[in-house]
Amino acid sequence: MGVNPEGHQNCPRCGQRAVRTYSMGKVRDDCKDCQLHSYYGMPLVDQATHDARIEAHQAFDPLWQFHGLARNEAYKALSVEIGLPLCDCHIGYMTKEEALSVRGHVANILHDLNRKKKQERRR
Ligand SMILES: [Zn+2]
Repeated sequence: MGVNPEGHQNCPRCGQRAVRTYSMGKVRDDCKDCQLHSYYGMPLVDQATHDARIEAHQAFDPLWQFHGLARNEAYKALSVEIGLPLCDCHIGYMTKEEALSVRGHVANILHDLNRKKKQERRR
């Protein structure tokens, strides 16, 4: 599953060459027959996977935006929780099932964070 920002992409389902368009600063590849698409040369996926990844980001991003983790710490915590190597644990590469599981993992990470904060307060 390689990122291919320069060259063309082939549809993983039917194998035909995806149609590349450039609009509003985005590079988009589309297979109209299979209803798959992606941005910036990522592997093509269906709309449900895109939606699941958007949801995953909405669950995950507050960890580093509001809860005091550095962005890389947040990804590290997620990779430990979800059981994927760090480099594979970017939401943009997740399958729909993995992306849908992120919300639950984030809840666990927050639970741990809150427990640590309470322990620090007791000292
Ligand atoms: Zn296709």
